[in-house]
Amino acid sequence: MNPLPPVPLPVSRMKVLITRDEITRRVAEMGRDITRDFEGQSVLLVGVLKGATIFLAELARSIELDATFDFFGVSSYADRTQPSGEVRLTKDVDTSLEGKNVILVEDILDTGLTLNYLKNVVLQHQPRSFKIAALLDKPARRIQPIDADYLGFTIPNEFVVGYGLDYAEHYRNLPDICILPPEAYSAG
Ligand code: 5GP
Repeated sequence: MNPLPPVPLPVSRMKVLITRDEITRRVAEMGRDITRDFEGQSVLLVGVLKGATIFLAELARSIELDATFDFFGVSSYADRTQPSGEVRLTKDVDTSLEGKNVILVEDILDTGLTLNYLKNVVLQHQPRSFKIAALLDKPARRIQPIDADYLGFTIPNEFVVGYGLDYAEHYRNLPDICILPPEAYSAG
């Protein structure tokens, strides 16, 4: 028997936390900050699959510098809403990070386990510089200390979906960031 309730929940039952317009404005500002900080240089944007893809696509178009892309895959929440506490690399980058201005692009900073793990992986490759760009931050749930150098929004301790963020692979294509009500993921 499947312990999970059916998805997707109708979007009409969700509360919008951050609208698409607010996201667009903030991401453009983040792109301007990165452009200013790396003036005259190239950057390598390394996204974390799959949640960061939409954020990376929008952020990249706000960066007026020579930019290349790569991606890490990590094991994450899968079909649950609680972290397992362990991070595992499921896909390594395809290009060399050595000597590059690496900007790790992540959808949400939660416990900090994923980004601490990936930070160590990147630093082993001896980049020229290392920065983190995160769209969202839930500081209330931090287990390992880590901060984003470029941050979109600080949010309360709610499970959010949309703009790349999923629940059981659904809702990634919602243009706004919405709070998934607990009824959508609590079994029974
Ligand atoms: P951390 O390792 O910081 O706990 O978690 C980072 C990852 O957890 C994110 O990349 C994301 O996959 C997942 N995550 C954390 N909070 C949320 C949330 O509110 N909604 C969704 N959809 N995923 C989340």
